[in-house]
Amino acid sequence: MSGITIGVASETAAGEKRVALTPETCKKLIARGARVRVQRGAGRSAGFTDEAYVQAGAELADDAAGATAQAEVVLCVQAPDGERLNLLREGTALVGLLQPQADAARGEAIVARKLLAFPLERLPRTTRAQAMDVLSSQAGMAGYKAVLIAGQLAPRFFPMLTTAAGTIRPSRVLIVGAGVAGLQAIATAKRLGAQVEGFDVRPETREQIESLGGKFLDLGVSAAGEGGYARQLTDEERAEQQRRLGEHLKNIDVIVCTAAVPGRPAPKIISAAMIAGMKPGSVLVDLAAETGGNCELTRPGETLDIDGVTVAGPLNLASSGAVHASEMFARNAFNFVSLFVDGGELKYDWNDELLAKTVWPERKDEAHSAAA
Ligand code: NAD
Repeated sequence: MSGITIGVASETAAGEKRVALTPETCKKLIARGARVRVQRGAGRSAGFTDEAYVQAGAELADDAAGATAQAEVVLCVQAPDGERLNLLREGTALVGLLQPQADAARGEAIVARKLLAFPLERLPRTTRAQAMDVLSSQAGMAGYKAVLIAGQLAPRFFPMLTTAAGTIRPSRVLIVGAGVAGLQAIATAKRLGAQVEGFDVRPETREQIESLGGKFLDLGVSAAGEGGYARQLTDEERAEQQRRLGEHLKNIDVIVCTAAVPGRPAPKIISAAMIAGMKPGSVLVDLAAETGGNCELTRPGETLDIDGVTVAGPLNLASSGAVHASEMFARNAFNFVSLFVDGGELKYDWNDELLAKTVWPERKDEAHSAAA
């Protein structure tokens, strides 16, 4: 049979509920001339039944090997474990949040199997790539969930209430880092009725925070870097930021931390001394826990009580909103794969920077500039 096969097995990472293909994107891939094979149950934890995939035109496979061993393209959310990687045949395009450098064995397996790995976290963040940007789509869900967790842990209402038992003051919520996750956190806290402030080192975030109804917390430090990301702060800048922030936190009820610098551990912004200065009953939710946390007391995956202040470091929040997170992820993955799946064939245009800069390991033999 001619044409190519796109395979999706169930995720292997612990606790991962998302899936990289939905019935909607399955249908679209088939419309581009591909066959789609899905492991039974692969979409269940994200709310997609086997029947829905079959109705969308997919073939079901009983196990991961049946779904992926003969596939030319394999979609995943997180990288499959080593055993699953070894099922794939040479030259298979593997698309997902692969983090090949985060795990030496994984990186070696990708190289040894001669896979064409497309770690989507490497995608250049250009305008054309927006529809493929899984970091943004998943950060949106994570920012939303982080605020709901904070609301759940806080011993206070978020909104102002006027009741027969008197007036309740609204919670004061500070969102640290106003990237994609932070802006969604601001919007969510605002919808819940809190008094919201946002803080970032990139000055252009002021307008974005204010457009969501938040107040920009100006700590007198600017660190605009290249490509829309932040740069690292100097020691003096950090010290000044810290001093002003510590003072400010004494009157804050809830902090949601989302600050990150690409390729580095999360910047430590909230010190133990700042937590000690906060009111009992205050809550900090550290979305940056995955990369070490923005608070020096954060322990990834744990919720701590530090003298009455709750410090939570939840992991993989996007997975906890698996239905919508998968819908967005799958559309992003479909849009990316559409760059090279066309008319039932694979056509890699290595002059397209979205492919050339995303593929890992970097291709040395092509004319493109591999500089990120
Ligand atoms: P990110 O997850 O890398 O960082 C989150 C935020 O933390 C950023 O806003 C950063 O400035 C902030 N931060 C870093 N160090 C800090 C510190 N010490 N104190 C306070 N804040 C700190 O970023 P992201 O959310 O993935 O994206 C950041 C920006 O990149 C976006 O807001 C946008 O401007 C740009 N972007 C562009 C596109 C596009 O054009 N296609 C897509 C996505 C993002």
